Amino acid sequence: MSNFVAPVARLIEQLSKLPGIGKKTAQRLAFYILNTREDEAINLAEAIIEAKRKIKYCSICSNITDIDPCNICTSPKRNKKIICVVEDPRDIAAMERIKEYNGLYHVLHGAISPMEGIGPEDIKIKELIVRLQNNDVEEIILATNPNIEGEATAMYISKIVKPTGIKVTRIAHGVPVGGDLEYADEVTLAKALEGRREL
Ligand SMILES: [Zn+2]
Repeated sequence: MSNFVAPVARLIEQLSKLPGIGKKTAQRLAFYILNTREDEAINLAEAIIEAKRKIKYCSICSNITDIDPCNICTSPKRNKKIICVVEDPRDIAAMERIKEYNGLYHVLHGAISPMEGIGPEDIKIKELIVRLQNNDVEEIILATNPNIEGEATAMYISKIVKPTGIKVTRIAHGVPVGGDLEYADEVTLAKALEGRREL
């Protein structure tokens, strides 16, 4: 990289930090950007800045949003007595596609994984508990992924929430074991939701 003048070297270095982009690809992209029209290069730079500045986490459900609270949390059409707990914002997109769920969400941003050193305090469980204490919730649906980490997380939350009298359900195992919720097709996910059982 020392063969390039500083501004070019910097651009290559930044591009090479992106996932799946090696040094050669970074160089190719850098020279593509250098050869492109100035307004197009500025468009790209501004799109990155705008996404980073405007996208934040909803202060209620931790979903990604450009307005806080998010559209789902503030919608008068949603049933505020049910909260579906998911691991990732992309799982909400999957649930919304099936159009059968009308409650609210809570995004944990991960799952408990002793192997990876991720404990309950590292994901947004505390925020969920506070939410349940301050709102009139009748049911939480645990829609964490059907793998070891997702099951451990569901069990952990269930143990804390059940004594409060709130109904705790787990989506059925229609979703392939080890498969992520976001990859499940709509029919499978609808069946998993419909077949949820009480813990
Ligand atoms: Zn929200």
